[in-house]
Amino acid sequence: MRIAIVGLSIEIMLSSPVPTGDSALQEYSAEQMRDGDLWMVRGMLARIAEEPDIEAVPLCWVTALPGGAMTGAAYDRVKRQTLEQLRGAGRLDGVLVVNHGALEVEGLDADADTDFVCAIREQVGPAMPIGVSLDLHGDMTPALLEAGTVFSVLRTAPHRDDRQTGYRAADQLIAVLRKGLTPKKAAVSIPILVPGETAVTALPPADRLYGGLRAYDDVPGMMEANILVGFAWNDRPWTAVTALAVSENDAALAREQAARLAREIWDAHEEFILRMETAEVEEGLARARSSETRPVYLSDSGDNTTAGAAGDLTLVLQAALRQPAGEDIVIAGITAPETVARLLAAGKGQEVEIVLGDEHLSRPRTAQRVTARVEDCGEWLELGGFQPYRSRESAWAKVRIGHVVATFHAQAIGITTPGHFRAMGIDPLGHQVYVVKLGYLHPQLEDIAARHILLLSDGTSQLDMTRLEWSRLPRPTWPLDKGFDWTPEGRVYGDEN
Ligand SMILES: [Zn+2]
Repeated sequence: MRIAIVGLSIEIMLSSPVPTGDSALQEYSAEQMRDGDLWMVRGMLARIAEEPDIEAVPLCWVTALPGGAMTGAAYDRVKRQTLEQLRGAGRLDGVLVVNHGALEVEGLDADADTDFVCAIREQVGPAMPIGVSLDLHGDMTPALLEAGTVFSVLRTAPHRDDRQTGYRAADQLIAVLRKGLTPKKAAVSIPILVPGETAVTALPPADRLYGGLRAYDDVPGMMEANILVGFAWNDRPWTAVTALAVSENDAALAREQAARLAREIWDAHEEFILRMETAEVEEGLARARSSETRPVYLSDSGDNTTAGAAGDLTLVLQAALRQPAGEDIVIAGITAPETVARLLAAGKGQEVEIVLGDEHLSRPRTAQRVTARVEDCGEWLELGGFQPYRSRESAWAKVRIGHVVATFHAQAIGITTPGHFRAMGIDPLGHQVYVVKLGYLHPQLEDIAARHILLLSDGTSQLDMTRLEWSRLPRPTWPLDKGFDWTPEGRVYGDEN
């Protein structure tokens, strides 16, 4: 048997001012998918490799750093190319799709993951099993549920289980093929807005809810149950938390399990609040500088590039410069292409006058003129290997402005690992305070930070959902609306029988 692997995995934040076009895409060929240790793909390949008579047929996989809406031209090209590759792949027995679940495309007034998977379904026909793996920050729609055969969703945030999620998707697809199953699927949209920072799976209530999924999987006759916390910042009709259940062939069982899981999630909705240490910007900086434990990592949550924000804001940098002189504060990952060009042109050791705020796209310019001394710079960052949330290689510069060491980048970047710091000649442990444009810390930084403080900073990815404008989101939705009753009964969609 032969199982193809394809996918288009991008998290889109509609309010981000920088569209995701061709220049932002990272496209992996069949060969790179085999050798690249790629997100979820690696788990799928590992599972298929356990079956001597099944051949893995990786074809193409496209990803990008989260950002503004994908351009229509880029999307159409990737979709066309994916369908062509599938057509040219010879006889196939199944398809695995590695998507995210929060893809949005300019001019496409529909959920783009749904559009993508439905196009694959249309091409391969109704009989071919399709396994879909998604990030838990994605959304579900009735059409996407119908187009896929089985689903696996990440169960950790920060994400540590892409390999296991890919493995489970392949495992389910193989079970469908071996046993000739026709899985039955059911889902419920639960009216809760959950920005990722309130659903960290090591903390309540997500620890309990995700930790409980195994018990749903183990119900006789079930394939898997999954929870999508959704992508809270996008004002879309399908933005919600989703409870999803797939059974081997019993629609009533899938519906019952989806409703049971949805009830459990709804009963916990008031627990989806920030549970990590938080602070307003100035207060967080001061607290970090006087912390007895070090290093302290601060996240600029309002400008979180791994949620799709542009990374262009210098609000935290400007606040850091207002702090009294003292030990260095490292602030990494500011998007500023024109500044980078000027710093590169000046070169190492040179002093350059720059205006902080001059390249703000997502907030008003808050111009502050400073003198920056170029400590290091380059045409690209040498990171090596695949890393999720990495932008395409782009020019960067490390500068000193008083007691602040800052890094600027020509394209948005997710500073998610100690390796990012080392690649710019910054010791990721030796300083007292680091600021990164994240919400929760990504795993490798979480592992080295002695303390993490989430800064409640302003910007596209700011965490107070009640401050955003909503017109297409179904109402009532918590926490915009409070004190309403909700029940999953009558709201289950998917297979009827
Ligand atoms: Zn995610």
